[in-house]
Amino acid sequence: MTDNSANHCPLCGKQGRARFKKRDLTILECTNCHHQFWKPTNLEAHVAETYGDDYFQGSSAGYLDYVGEETIQRASARYYTRMLTRHTRPGRMTDVGAACGFFVKEFSDAGWCACGVEPNSSMRDFGQKKFGIDLPAAQLDDLPSSDRVDLISVIQVISHLIDPRQTLTTIHNRLLPGGLLLIETWDRSSLAARLSGEGWHEYNPPSVLHWFSRASLQKLVEEHGFEKVSQGIPRKRIQLGRAAKMIRHSTENSIIGRWLTWPLVLAPSNLAVPYFLGDAFWMLFRVR
Ligand SMILES: [Zn+2]
Repeated sequence: MTDNSANHCPLCGKQGRARFKKRDLTILECTNCHHQFWKPTNLEAHVAETYGDDYFQGSSAGYLDYVGEETIQRASARYYTRMLTRHTRPGRMTDVGAACGFFVKEFSDAGWCACGVEPNSSMRDFGQKKFGIDLPAAQLDDLPSSDRVDLISVIQVISHLIDPRQTLTTIHNRLLPGGLLLIETWDRSSLAARLSGEGWHEYNPPSVLHWFSRASLQKLVEEHGFEKVSQGIPRKRIQLGRAAKMIRHSTENSIIGRWLTWPLVLAPSNLAVPYFLGDAFWMLFRVR
């Protein structure tokens, strides 16, 4: 399927205007709601082309070594299992874009009946073998529609979705009454993003398709039958190699940027530092 409305905002449908280019791809801003986005022309091929095995291993657009980030990713999941104890008891949950299931494993260990959906079959196979967890499908739509849960988590995924509205509608239909939706993503309105301008590390098409602010994400989710319960800045750690990649991105891969960061690129995958830029955020919503 080819999208003929490449310049139209995926949130409100109005015309977008060009803001700037990254990797020869034009980032647009909606003239109506000011959402920033990039739209792939071939929607059908986009997921397969972008989230193949390369995305999780050695990719310039994705992860240097996702599997090697196990300690970091599982610590991030534990942050959320602890946070959620303030709002609910463990029940049934589904993680969207689960990769090899680090979050599913941690939620299972915290008493949740957890499963995950993930388009990359290598990641699903790896996680199921390694942890014995349930990663049954590529996407929510592939699960039985009667299968409703207490919590759906969307961690670092919503900015990669071709159609966030459609996914939020599906999520709403897959949650039980009073169910919770946890989203973590990047904040275009953060100080770090605003100071970085076009060099902000998250301006990273073709894998990233949307750049939300806290306000725009909240508005979008609330339009789909949710109310906000809580929000915060995640306590994150970051792989040294990934930190180097972000610095190189911000300096347009300049010689100075590469020279300053080459020792970090060579660091082992499990070496991490606290992430302190404050440009990521989470929001917790409840079905109205
Ligand atoms: Zn718009």
